[in-house]
Amino acid sequence: MPDTAAQQPVRLAHLDAHRFRDWMARGGSTVIVPAGAFEQHGPHLPMGTDALLSATIAEAVAARMGAKVAEPFSYGYKSQQKSGGGDHLPGTISLDAAALIAQARCVIAGFLSQGVANVVVLNGHFENYQFLYEAADLALGDLRADGIGGGGGSAPSVLLLSYWDYVSEGTLAEVYPDGFPGWDIEHGGVLETSLMLHLHPELVGMERAVSHPPASLPRFDRLPVVAERTPETGCLSAPDGSDARKGELLFEQVAEDLAADLRQELGTA
Ligand code: ZN
Ligand code: MN
Repeated sequence: MPDTAAQQPVRLAHLDAHRFRDWMARGGSTVIVPAGAFEQHGPHLPMGTDALLSATIAEAVAARMGAKVAEPFSYGYKSQQKSGGGDHLPGTISLDAAALIAQARCVIAGFLSQGVANVVVLNGHFENYQFLYEAADLALGDLRADGIGGGGGSAPSVLLLSYWDYVSEGTLAEVYPDGFPGWDIEHGGVLETSLMLHLHPELVGMERAVSHPPASLPRFDRLPVVAERTPETGCLSAPDGSDARKGELLFEQVAEDLAADLRQELGTA
């Protein structure tokens, strides 16, 4: 096991608790919690795509700022037809809102109550966002009830973001030379496929990818879903034009800008 702080694993699950405590005692203050889903991503990407991407991006950000990464949430809130193809599709296994809020609330409150000053929830599954927000708010309420925090600069805090909100206009123009379809239908499309080709190429089957026009979905959500409205592939936009070079550009730009933003907001550790 490497022992200098710089060589220590960034993933807390790979670190022993004694060195975790030492890291906090030396001023380590930020833990990033990645949030994903277990969700079908068409014929060419694995079902763990959202959790794999949020965890890998979290590791790169943490390495740049001296933070640590908690284990990702590998299940997420229900896949919605207009953003993830739908919860009815085999290969998509979801948590309901109460379950996701309860789990995220425990994990956030747990780290903050043990002396971590800042938890950053790094989301990689569109449908999770509002429930993670609720979990953060309830976790801070739990701490206040226990007499921890209560406002002010040194009080525990939570930051919440979805990684695609850090993709710059310049990167978008390079990744989508024919025009950007919108984040909601970026499911199994060029962003996720390119990132996976760069970060986890052994898990991608481009020979199985299918080209089709972007999904055309109504402005309303209908429950139960009209299954035929989801394209046959389960992707809401096709992965046409995906490649590892675009994935590298997306990954490096997002990790760099996100780490800079977090350092400015929270300090270096
Ligand atoms: Zn996804
Ligand atoms: Mn998703």
